[in-house]
Amino acid sequence: MSETFASNERTRVVREPHRGVYDRESINKILDEGFVCHVGFTVDGQPFVIPTIYARVGDAIYFHGSAASRVLRGASAGIAVCVTVTLVDGLVLARSVFNHSMNYRSVVALGKAALVDAPAEKFEALRAFTEKVLPGRWNDARQPNEKELKATSILRLPLTEVSAKMRTGPVEDDVEDYALRVWAGIVPLRLAADAPVGDARCDARIAVPPYVAQWRR
Ligand SMILES: Cc1cc2nc3c(=O)[nH]c(=O)nc-3n(C[C@H](O)[C@H](O)[C@H](O)COP(=O)(O)OP(=O)(O)OC[C@H]3O[C@@H](n4cnc5c(N)ncnc54)[C@H](O)[C@@H]3O)c2cc1C
Repeated sequence: MSETFASNERTRVVREPHRGVYDRESINKILDEGFVCHVGFTVDGQPFVIPTIYARVGDAIYFHGSAASRVLRGASAGIAVCVTVTLVDGLVLARSVFNHSMNYRSVVALGKAALVDAPAEKFEALRAFTEKVLPGRWNDARQPNEKELKATSILRLPLTEVSAKMRTGPVEDDVEDYALRVWAGIVPLRLAADAPVGDARCDARIAVPPYVAQWRR
């Protein structure tokens, strides 16, 4: 497996091309850190972009097919999708409004997503979703039964045409604006977990498991 995705005319970052990233390790890191992907697809000329949970397993991403699967029924070859994952790392407050920006890492993956039929692959995808939500959860919670597996549609997108784009670093102002008496800088942003809140119907004698209590982002 190549360490880098070959860019083509569909995946080449055009604007600020120096921010384009194609190496597999960086792309996998973004995909593994993100919680939500946006799945874009077209139905009768109408584009839909649906947010949903996903997980990367090896060289594919799996996502819940509740939205796109209605289109997929009967389309065994799969449907064309564009899947995007975005992590926002900071607000970039420049001296000029024009140069305001965000620090970010994002991935765009193009390809054909197909419904997963094999129960074992479905099971593995659900495990990956659950472990992504919180590592350790899969072995603690009740695992899906046959009926639940049947009721869940899961789509698989092989990672073949993929790009990432990243903005990191400081404010970039126009030379003459550095003399302005305006505060400029970065406000770092991150996703953080607050203290867990037990379910009202949870037996109070069941302690918060360590993998929940100790989980940090
Ligand atoms: C949080 C956030 C804020 C942004 N704010 C702005 C903004 O204010 N103005 C602005 O112009 N751009 C912004 N961008 C960048 C934006 O996503 C696009 O990259 C840009 O608008 C168009 O780039 P392009 O012309 O190079 O790509 P396009 O010609 O639109 O796309 C060509 C190919 O490049 C790749 N590509 C393009 N963008 C991305 C991406 N973000 N991640 C991974 N692959 C990508 C894809 O494979 C795509 O098919 C922002 C991105 C993020 C994540």
